[in-house]
Amino acid sequence: MDCLFCKIIGGEIPSTKVYEDDMLLAFRDINPQAPEHIVIVPKTHIRSANEINSDNVKYISAIWEKIPQIAADLGFAENGYRVINNCGHDGGQTVEHLHFHLLGGKTFTDF
Ligand code: AMP
Ligand code: ZN
Repeated sequence: MDCLFCKIIGGEIPSTKVYEDDMLLAFRDINPQAPEHIVIVPKTHIRSANEINSDNVKYISAIWEKIPQIAADLGFAENGYRVINNCGHDGGQTVEHLHFHLLGGKTFTDF
């Protein structure tokens, strides 16, 4: 499958990993929008939030279970952070493998 994030999960394309288990991979965004910008992906190809269903929602649950731990390990949990999912064209999604942006290390004042 010609999917950038599947290739990162498979190790075909390198990434700077910050956390990994059997359900998810978290790595540094190549074009960070904050001092800390982590991309978190499920280790199964889900195209977007529109494809979350009762069979694959366990991956979303696993991701949200680990977000506070990843933020804590990177040292910004206490100060807080922002989690973003872009879905589809209007949402600004550019990689068609569901992912969450975990952003920290600054105070966001915009919406
Ligand atoms: P989105 O626009 O929500 O689909 O986000 C895709 C994100 O993937 C962007 O923030 C990109 O900077 C990031 N990205 C693209 N290619 C890579 C890569 N090879 N390694 C890490 N992050 C990447
Ligand atoms: Zn994929």
